[in-house]
Amino acid sequence: MILDKMIALVTGGSRGIGRAICLKLASLGATVGINYVANPEAAQETLQQIEEIGGKGFIVRFDVADANDVQVNIKEIINTYGQVDILVNNAGITRDGLMARMKEDDWDSVLDTNLKGAFLCSKAVMRTMMKKKWGRIINVSSVVGFVGNGGQVNYGAAKAGLTGLTKSMARELAGRNITVNCVAPGYIVTDMTDGLAEDVQEALKAQIPLGTLGTPEDVAASVGFLASSDSNYITGQTLHVNGGMYMGH
Ligand code: NAP
Repeated sequence: MILDKMIALVTGGSRGIGRAICLKLASLGATVGINYVANPEAAQETLQQIEEIGGKGFIVRFDVADANDVQVNIKEIINTYGQVDILVNNAGITRDGLMARMKEDDWDSVLDTNLKGAFLCSKAVMRTMMKKKWGRIINVSSVVGFVGNGGQVNYGAAKAGLTGLTKSMARELAGRNITVNCVAPGYIVTDMTDGLAEDVQEALKAQIPLGTLGTPEDVAASVGFLASSDSNYITGQTLHVNGGMYMGH
């Protein structure tokens, strides 16, 4: 098991891509902290699925956008488990709308959850990683942060911001053998994309060379790679998981 004895924390691990990441890391041997904010039943379901495959996990509720909540809960995880070796900043929300009508609140909540959340959680775990001289931080970005999307100026800005955060953190932490990378999914079948109308989904597929939307497991496989020692010499990078719809650099 390549992540044996490792403690991982996945924000937004209760549903969708986060749940698949929890299962992947647990299947590789890590003990996985499943974070959620509003949906305890879904977090419980993730834990049950982990246990069904013989893995280990625990549930931790906190709002990634709330500095005090993050600090108190991550401190408790470190007190209980000794460290956090792998942090996956996956929690994310959308509050879509054309910019002319977008409320300041919709801007703030998307930036606070998707971007500030990654800053706060990373800050809360980095000391324990620095002490151990090993760590993995993986930020879940989006193709929208690279190509933009009308109706998502808040989300596009937050996800593009994650790229800058990732690169700067990668430089700061490289000396302590902590790598920081992004995974940028394209369109993945989850609750977040469930609401898309059939014709919108068809139009999206037409832009995807591989011809289908992705699955949470497609994203989780890349996170598993970046979490392991197989990616020792990779930092500050973005791995695009999008069926070819954007061939980034
Ligand atoms: P999802 O199904 O809507 O799940 C969102 C997850 O984030 C849930 O576990 C939710 O917890 C959690 N969450 C939301 N706000 C939170 C907060 N303030 N604090 C802690 N947890 C919070 O989303 P998804 O589609 O799996 O997306 C996961 C990540 O991938 C997001 O960062 C998203 O932007 C990104 N992404 C998704 C797609 C896609 O096509 N689906 C494409 C590109 C990027 P609760 O269950 O408690 O609500």
